[in-house]
Amino acid sequence: MKRALVTGAGGFIGHHLVNYLVDKGYWVRGVDVKRPEYESSKAHEFELLDLRRWEHCQQATRGVEEVYNLAANMGGIGFIESHKAEIMHDNVLINMHMLEAARLNGVKRYLYTSSACVYPGYRQNSPDVTPLKEEDAYPADPEDGYGWEKLFSERQCRHYHEDYGLETRVVRFHNIYGPLGTYDGGREKSPAAICRKIALVEDGGEIEVWGDGEQTRSYCYVDDCVEGILRLMKSDYREPLNLGSDHLVTINQLVDIVAGIAGKQVRRRYDLTKPQGVRGRNSENSRLRTVLRWEPPTSLNQGLERTYRWIRAMLERSGRLKDEVSAAS
Ligand code: NAD
Repeated sequence: MKRALVTGAGGFIGHHLVNYLVDKGYWVRGVDVKRPEYESSKAHEFELLDLRRWEHCQQATRGVEEVYNLAANMGGIGFIESHKAEIMHDNVLINMHMLEAARLNGVKRYLYTSSACVYPGYRQNSPDVTPLKEEDAYPADPEDGYGWEKLFSERQCRHYHEDYGLETRVVRFHNIYGPLGTYDGGREKSPAAICRKIALVEDGGEIEVWGDGEQTRSYCYVDDCVEGILRLMKSDYREPLNLGSDHLVTINQLVDIVAGIAGKQVRRRYDLTKPQGVRGRNSENSRLRTVLRWEPPTSLNQGLERTYRWIRAMLERSGRLKDEVSAAS
């Protein structure tokens, strides 16, 4: 049985990855500062550790062949634009300590989860953006704070391979979404926020949209994300690789799709004072197709349908659905 460590195992993608690896026959240790919020982990061992601390990284990386390092202090655009010092502080510590501890503990392969936030602002100024190729990350002008840390840690992975021979893999996620992700509280991303708002509004009611809704993104379903992670880890590809969908939509189109799934007419109130991030962002998947001989198969409609159903069920279970809908009517 291959032995793997997944960090961030109490979080959205990490939790899905633990379950995926266990189903594939891996022995898995999950590590996080918290347990998964919505269901229990299938990890063989789950340790509550703070990976900003060196000795906790040494403990986490003992006796495993593979490390999937997903732990990070992060959230949606509202959070990352207002917590830059904290995010850079925490994530630099996590990734530097994790790489060094993995090396000293004789880990064979180490996967680092980077982000589309490494791509320069000057390439993302228009909604009909040219899809971003891996080499577009330089000359660097990443998302301030969160993106700079990701770019720096990508670089450090490369140097750990060059100087120490550690087999490193770097994946750049583009907006991963799906069930069991944060949908409330300020750290949620746009698909979850829109699903929540539409679940809570009455038919014909109004929801708030950040910006004018014409900003564009592509979204990748979480089941495809974990499959892509494992494919990359097994490959011999050491350069950063996009993992995302190349189906571009505006936020307004995202609202239309979710409203259609919910069977509601929804009016929008645009709040131009709220952060919107870059104007347009899409993934260029040529290299993904070449390297992994695969690309994410789940359509946005399929993925959003599952996500909406899950968020609606969570709101219903917590009693919020009933309260909000009757308050609005
Ligand atoms: P998440 O916030 O759900 O999970 C991250 C987990 O890391 C959380 O459970 C958190 O408790 C844990 N963590 C934070 N600080 C820690 C610490 N000091 N010690 C131990 N654990 C700690 O986020 P996610 O969406 O699952 O993202 C996973 C990874 O993918 C992150 O590195 C993130 O930056 C990256 N990423 C995600 C997306 C996306 O769309 N979700 C996009 C780009 C990159």
